[in-house]
Amino acid sequence: TTISANLDATIARFPEREAIVDVAQGVRLTYAEFGAVVDRLARALVAAGYQVGERVGIWAPNRYEWVIVQYATAKAGLILVNINPAYRSHELQFVLKQAGISLLIAVERFKTSDYAGMIDQARGACPELRDVVFIGTESWDALLARAEEVPADRLTEIADGLSASDAINIQYTSGTTGFPKGATLSHTNILNNGYLVGEICRYTEEDRICIPVPFYHCFGMVMGNLAATTHGACMVIPAAAFEPAATLAAVQAERCTSLYGVPTMFIAEWALPDFATYDLSSVRTGIMAGSPCPAEMMKKLIAAGIEEMTICYGMTETSPVSTQTRTDDSFDLKVGTVGRVAPHLEIRVADPITGATLARGEAGEFCTKGYSVMIGYWEEPEKTAEAVVDGWMRTGDLAVMDPDGSVRITGRIKDMVIRGGENIYPREIEEFLYTHPDIVDAQVIGVPDAKYGEELCAWVRLRSGAPELTASALREFCTGKLAHYKIPRYVKLVDDFPMTVTGKVRKVEMRSQSARELG
Ligand code: ATP
Ligand code: MG
Repeated sequence: TTISANLDATIARFPEREAIVDVAQGVRLTYAEFGAVVDRLARALVAAGYQVGERVGIWAPNRYEWVIVQYATAKAGLILVNINPAYRSHELQFVLKQAGISLLIAVERFKTSDYAGMIDQARGACPELRDVVFIGTESWDALLARAEEVPADRLTEIADGLSASDAINIQYTSGTTGFPKGATLSHTNILNNGYLVGEICRYTEEDRICIPVPFYHCFGMVMGNLAATTHGACMVIPAAAFEPAATLAAVQAERCTSLYGVPTMFIAEWALPDFATYDLSSVRTGIMAGSPCPAEMMKKLIAAGIEEMTICYGMTETSPVSTQTRTDDSFDLKVGTVGRVAPHLEIRVADPITGATLARGEAGEFCTKGYSVMIGYWEEPEKTAEAVVDGWMRTGDLAVMDPDGSVRITGRIKDMVIRGGENIYPREIEEFLYTHPDIVDAQVIGVPDAKYGEELCAWVRLRSGAPELTASALREFCTGKLAHYKIPRYVKLVDDFPMTVTGKVRKVEMRSQSARELG
């Protein structure tokens, strides 16, 4: 079905249940109220002349209006383009032009700050951009006021003309390994993925999902918002941008039953000095995903009583989830794997060079096929043909499938370090470093080396108050537990890692920085 038909069905079933809570703005809407605002904006967009298939960009941090725009564009048959609030002029213009955006929706803050200059430049440089509307200002109210010009029947007519296989969304990838690519996704892609992720978390209309992950990324928009609306659950937005204390405070105040985060978010929450004072007893389940999920963090979540916590693995191009741990999996599967194949999909591990399917237990490239694979990269047929071969999405991630079908992600092909002919997956070393009592976070990269081709360098974040950790002390900690060639030669103590705004460590940047420093 389509997103608009699905939302209408949920509204009809649960009109009085809470749909969304925006903690920072103090706004709460029931499904009936949420549906009314969504319809109003959808009619306004039609009144303003936007035609089925046109692209609307949203450039805003998390707030309830973001979600209104998400569903209103779907109802009006428009294609939503998520734009990262951290983008600057160059990236904004790239996306506006590449996706041919005719309406840009931003927030009031962007009208006055340095964003205003970027938007003015973009107006000049992007001929297809017809209008810019700022949420929370007169331009937003003026747009909404136009709803009266279009009868409600018109939305039904538009809905009847939509097909589930139509493009509904262009989401740019995180840009962890290079420039972001615009994955074009259909109703079928994201609606089913959101629904099925929610099935595995066993969501019902009783659930309240705390979503501190960004909406402009598939984690927030699909695994959060669509998982909620397909099950009648409530979306709780703790803050516009991630803050560990605000997230835990929202969980406690709103009695959230589910908590989301990329690993760095959970690490930051659990490291709060007053962590123990938050009441998290309402939390039953949740999702950790987006980048390698340390076993140590998962153990802490389970120890905190969140026994049905799950881990998802996926990518923007696959809507996103391909594998998920199950709420009733054994402890070992929950902490040590990214779970088994998600429902209605096929997965395989392939030789990255020949493409041949490998036996269980062998490491190769993770590939997936099925309803979740994107339509393609927006107007980039060559890149699409490289990434999707015979219907199989090539992820660029290294994986091993265990005999029981559980998958372990061992790294990214691009992150693999080759030291003296040995292939090393930094992930394995990072997992080991996490077991050191003073290490809060560790990231391992390869740096050029005259003798071995590459050498390992560990960037390490220590817990506050921990004594200095020297390279030789860390090597000693590894000796006898890791093969000699996997023991990092260099250690760099840091307070932070270079990050993408979706909370992923940018190893590309770490590699160039370390290469410079080590000469
Ligand atoms: P880009 O493609 O622009 O370089 P990106 O791949 O980080 O950026 P996303 O689509 O947001 O952009 O992220 C998908 C990637 O995140 C996956 O390919 C994988 O490398 C990583 N990932 C996601 N979930 C997990 C997980 N549970 N464990 C390990 N890695 C994960
Ligand atoms: Mg990617």
